[in-house]
Amino acid sequence: MSATIIDGKQVAAEVRAEVTREVEAFVERHGRPPGLATILVGEDAASAVYVGGKQRACAEVGIKGFDHRLPADASRAEVVALIERLNADPDVSGILCQLPVPGHLDGVELTNLIDPDKDVDGLTVASAGRLALGLPGLRSCTPAGVIRLLDAAGVAIEGAEAVVIGRSNLFGKPMAQLLLERNATVTIAHSRTTDLADVASRADILIAAVGRAEMVRGDWIKPGAAVIDVGINRLAEPPAGRSSALVGDIAFDEALAVAGAITPVPGGVGPMTIAKLLDNTVQAARLQAGED
Ligand code: NAP
Repeated sequence: MSATIIDGKQVAAEVRAEVTREVEAFVERHGRPPGLATILVGEDAASAVYVGGKQRACAEVGIKGFDHRLPADASRAEVVALIERLNADPDVSGILCQLPVPGHLDGVELTNLIDPDKDVDGLTVASAGRLALGLPGLRSCTPAGVIRLLDAAGVAIEGAEAVVIGRSNLFGKPMAQLLLERNATVTIAHSRTTDLADVASRADILIAAVGRAEMVRGDWIKPGAAVIDVGINRLAEPPAGRSSALVGDIAFDEALAVAGAITPVPGGVGPMTIAKLLDNTVQAARLQAGED
């Protein structure tokens, strides 16, 4: 058996096409596009690349980008004033503060100052609480992207045994809650889980978000399971027979022989994160405009 490969680039392109159509319809109804404000404090090179990618993606789908860059020594008061101004700006539908912020600032505190109705990353305490209580709200982009990939691949979530390896606030916890919301039976595994291989082998849906290259082996996987690899690990050089030095948390070649469906790294979960960010920005704009 060889697993079906779930093509994240393809599904992300579909989400972006839907978002483009929704943006056009929003402009027709309101005479202005949804807007996404990004805040980057300092000159961290990787963060600058991420923010640049998000702004470019906005332009491609017709969302208006507001690209705010502050120097590395910006004071807390300056960043707070900017967030408060963006919270009050009706042209700004979504706000994200790129993390990490320089050491004299508190990224968690700053993120929590974002109006929950504009929290397109889904990272504020209010958004986490809304998710935990099953209330409507903006959901974290990467876990929401995984749900979309499972749906696109025709994986039945309701009633499935789902195992999420990793319990971070950024991914593992919201992922587990989104699966629960869809009526999966969910186990969250982490570094203190005893006999992880045994826990993983129960999963109809196995999701790994650890950050350890190829940690999940083929013999941990239930035959036919849907396997979602969130991990991004850069090796010194590409593994034999591959062009990219990026690998996931799943031993891909081993898993391919056992799983029913699997996401590759790169080209699986990664492309979904920005696609869902764009989707969240449109959803936020519609909510603020009093639509559904
Ligand atoms: P994180 O905050 O470092 O969390 C890692 C989790 O893995 C923790 O819950 C940790 O358990 C668990 N863990 C560590 N070693 C383990 C082991 N040996 N066995 C079982 N569990 C173990 O990382 P994160 O932010 O969730 O990200 C995880 C990975 O996903 C990273 O590679 C990251 O780059 C990637 N990621 C990708 C995207 C994307 O594609 N857009 C988005 C988010 C994250 P404890 O809690 O017990 O320490």
